[in-house]
Amino acid sequence: MPELPEVENLRLGLERKIVGQKVKSVKVLAPKLVAGAGNIRAPSRAKTAEFISGITGKVIEGIERRAKNLIFRFKGGGLLLVHLKMSGQFVYREGKKTVEGGHPIELSRSGLPNKHTHIIFELSRGTLYYNDIRTFGYLLYFKNQNSFDKTRHFKYIGPEPLSKEFTREYFAGALRNKKSKLKSVLLGQSAVAGLGNIYADEVCFEAGVRPTRAASSLSAGEAGRLYSAIKRILKRAIETGGSSVATYMLLDESRGNYAREHKVYGRGGEECANCGKKLKNITLGGRTTVFCVSCQK
Ligand SMILES: [Zn+2]
Repeated sequence: MPELPEVENLRLGLERKIVGQKVKSVKVLAPKLVAGAGNIRAPSRAKTAEFISGITGKVIEGIERRAKNLIFRFKGGGLLLVHLKMSGQFVYREGKKTVEGGHPIELSRSGLPNKHTHIIFELSRGTLYYNDIRTFGYLLYFKNQNSFDKTRHFKYIGPEPLSKEFTREYFAGALRNKKSKLKSVLLGQSAVAGLGNIYADEVCFEAGVRPTRAASSLSAGEAGRLYSAIKRILKRAIETGGSSVATYMLLDESRGNYAREHKVYGRGGEECANCGKKLKNITLGGRTTVFCVSCQK
């Protein structure tokens, strides 16, 4: 699943290319993707029609990110909320130039549209494809900010880790209240936004704390180290992702620039870069989790 740094890189790549362009037409091949989020997504003709008519003819004014969500804003009002979930991807093609981000989909490299292409936006200068292997992602159109605010879509999402609101004191307090395992709390989004399986494991390693600990058991010192690790690692991951030139192929198990710097994620059974002991691989809350029994307490 694309996490905060990958979504941020996708945002940066798209922002450079498509802001200021007009949407000439929209094709919706999988109506459930525009019908709702989570389980409330029964496809309907009305929803699809509203999506198409809301966006067609509009100029893209800006692209924002909140946690792992993207928000496309249109001139004259209207916004599009996008969550890529497990396997969503955007590819923008303009002549020979390509901007690509989200989940890497091999088939998209050989041709577009393909069987994973579910929504196609024809823009004034190029084409934006939304591809999704498992179709858990969603693209929801809202006619104005007010109609979006009413959904309270972000109500369970905590502060952005690189914002001023995310302070050391806040984070220590957020952990103190939670008896669940640290990894689950980090994945849960309410203590801090944007972490997924990769970065949750990486920040725990960096901070020297085990992901299996109860979040509330962390000392002030440990919470402080974890706080710093979150900031440092996400910043570094955003920067290294942004350093690739034309293609934003970011980031899953195998690809992307920051993937080379993973210390624990995807390295279960390998030697710890720090102490040389074998990294432990467990399943925690249904997710693969890797840590070092000697470096992490
Ligand atoms: Zn170690």
